[in-house]
Amino acid sequence: MILLDGKKVRDDIAKTLREKIEAFSSRPKLCIVQVGENEESATYIRQKKTFGETIGAIVEHRKLPAGVTEKDLLEVIAKLNADASVHGIIVQIPIPEHISEDAVVDAIAPEKDVDGLGGVNVKRLWENKKNGFMPATTKGIMSLLSAYEIPVAGKHVVVVGRSSLVGKPTALAFLNADATVTIAHRSTVNLSDITRSADILVVAAGRPHFIQRDDVREGQVVIDVGITAITGEKLDEEVVERTVTGDVHFDDVKDIVGAMSPVPGGVGPMTVASLFQNLVSAYEMQTRV
Ligand code: NAP
Repeated sequence: MILLDGKKVRDDIAKTLREKIEAFSSRPKLCIVQVGENEESATYIRQKKTFGETIGAIVEHRKLPAGVTEKDLLEVIAKLNADASVHGIIVQIPIPEHISEDAVVDAIAPEKDVDGLGGVNVKRLWENKKNGFMPATTKGIMSLLSAYEIPVAGKHVVVVGRSSLVGKPTALAFLNADATVTIAHRSTVNLSDITRSADILVVAAGRPHFIQRDDVREGQVVIDVGITAITGEKLDEEVVERTVTGDVHFDDVKDIVGAMSPVPGGVGPMTVASLFQNLVSAYEMQTRV
């Protein structure tokens, strides 16, 4: 089994981005807007800050109180849109329920929407236009396969999960790359038959150890997107510390499949690196270097 090592590919991407940024006349800047406190968001923001600083980008973390109004948040975004020193803006999801997520992501100027979640960039992906930003997790999955020279065109790709954040954009990206795509979800019947029929199986269901040996077949490429924080009691007695687990039971399938991304260390690091690839592209477009 070939281990699709997201950390290694991330480090290669970091090196390329660092060299690019060193040659720029100023530093690309990402502004991360966080509304309220959320332990998981704080972890993701820390990872982005660390990676950004490693490559020489500026990462500003702007914290707003949980009670901020939608109007005030939209004003913050409008100011960042108008600020030429800011090249990328992300609003860390989730945001409190009194604020419309759609209104917020659509308020980010498309050329600064490095998460690729606003309407303009979603439409560009839908239409297979090359001038948009692909959501970071989707881009990370495609880059991981490309780094290991795994062909996609003509392959049958099964994506388990259909969220707007991961499943749908990932299915579209594979379609745009000339794969034949099946999207599975909770109402899918005979899911195991479908997952076994895949050449490339992408699992983004958010259910720990959901995919087991009966769900895979020999030689398949398996991409595990799932990240679930677990504590010792939740899975088995060996796990005593808080850690993360994927949607695929790694040990159960590792002797069957041909290649697989681990959790942690697979799609997660690729997501962070892809976000900063988008930031650097945004900088290049905005400064026309
Ligand atoms: P989500 O919004 O909860 O969507 C989960 C999807 O999985 C839904 O479409 C759901 O189907 C489907 N699903 C759930 N249980 C299923 C089952 N028993 N059979 C078939 N389909 C099932 O989650 P998400 O935001 O897409 O995230 C998915 C996972 O990826 C999570 O673990 C998340 O933490 C992780 N993630 C990782 C990264 C990364 O960088 N590695 C980035 C983002 C998210 P229905 O639509 O029918 O309900």
